[in-house]
Amino acid sequence: MNAKTLNGPHAPRITVLGSINMDLVVRCTELPLAGQTLLAQSSSEFCGGKGANQAVAAALSGGEVSMLGAVGDDAFATRLINNLRMHGVNCDSTTQHDGVASGLAIIAVDLSGQNSIMVVPGANSKLSKSSVQAAETLLKGSDCLMIQLETPIESVLEGIRLARRYGVRVILDPAPAPSEIVPSLLQVDLICPNETEASDLTQMPVTNAKEAKAAAKQLQDLGAKNVVITMGSEGAILRQGDTTTLIPAIPVDAIDTTAAGDAFAGALAVRWSQTNNLLNAVRYANAAGAIAASRAGAQTSIATQKEIEATNEIHSK
Ligand code: ADP
Repeated sequence: MNAKTLNGPHAPRITVLGSINMDLVVRCTELPLAGQTLLAQSSSEFCGGKGANQAVAAALSGGEVSMLGAVGDDAFATRLINNLRMHGVNCDSTTQHDGVASGLAIIAVDLSGQNSIMVVPGANSKLSKSSVQAAETLLKGSDCLMIQLETPIESVLEGIRLARRYGVRVILDPAPAPSEIVPSLLQVDLICPNETEASDLTQMPVTNAKEAKAAAKQLQDLGAKNVVITMGSEGAILRQGDTTTLIPAIPVDAIDTTAAGDAFAGALAVRWSQTNNLLNAVRYANAAGAIAASRAGAQTSIATQKEIEATNEIHSK
């Protein structure tokens, strides 16, 4: 696959094919048991979904971002789209579906921070092969396609197929890890799992840098051109050609690692597209992930290009 020459004067054009959800977070003293009704302390609504989070992250990192996704016909749909637009994400290729609810995650969190989560894909399950085909011109004009696995597999595979046809770089964040691997799923320029996903995909233990290095090689053998395995406070493993490198995390006081992986992925896509230097892009993405881990919330924790550059600069000295 030949990636295009990406160093033009324009901001990198990133298309995100993925999920858009509303997250309803309910705080309670303890998680309810089956059949139990209890009073909770509070409820809040946040715009989320891995696709939307990564789109926001890429936009804040300086990308010209388009969202290829789906919402329903409920009140959440308008809020979800407005939120993406507010972050500068183009939603012309996000479709609205009548008679369907927008994607929804119901997250109960107890006093000790334990959670239980129900995800209703809703309109995300309407992102079909033909919706992706309808966005062919968008894909053709993109520098990079970012994909996760919260939309139907046929949309993912069609995105990869079209991107490959036009020489568009593909980054796959394989979350949630698939129960079955279709070989063409891994024919991407970069796969970017966390430790759990890397372990699920390779059937190998991934609990430390040594194991992650072995898993990264295995993912490359399965078809991914480059591999990045994110390892929380340890940083990230990069496998490129025959070289495997641990890029240590930037030390921070982590308070909430929600969306750290999404912040990492969005920043990585933009910086890699801008510089064509993957090692440099992982360093930059480590800074984005560390900032997100040091702040509360999901999209609210994602840093801007300026903030990421400042943090990266301090720690590269
Ligand atoms: P996910 O959220 O997908 O499970 P990780 O927890 O591996 O992903 O985090 C993604 C990236 O965010 C890491 O590779 C690292 O760069 C950064 N990060 C996450 N947690 C921390 C932390 N506690 N300290 C510093 N950086 C972190």
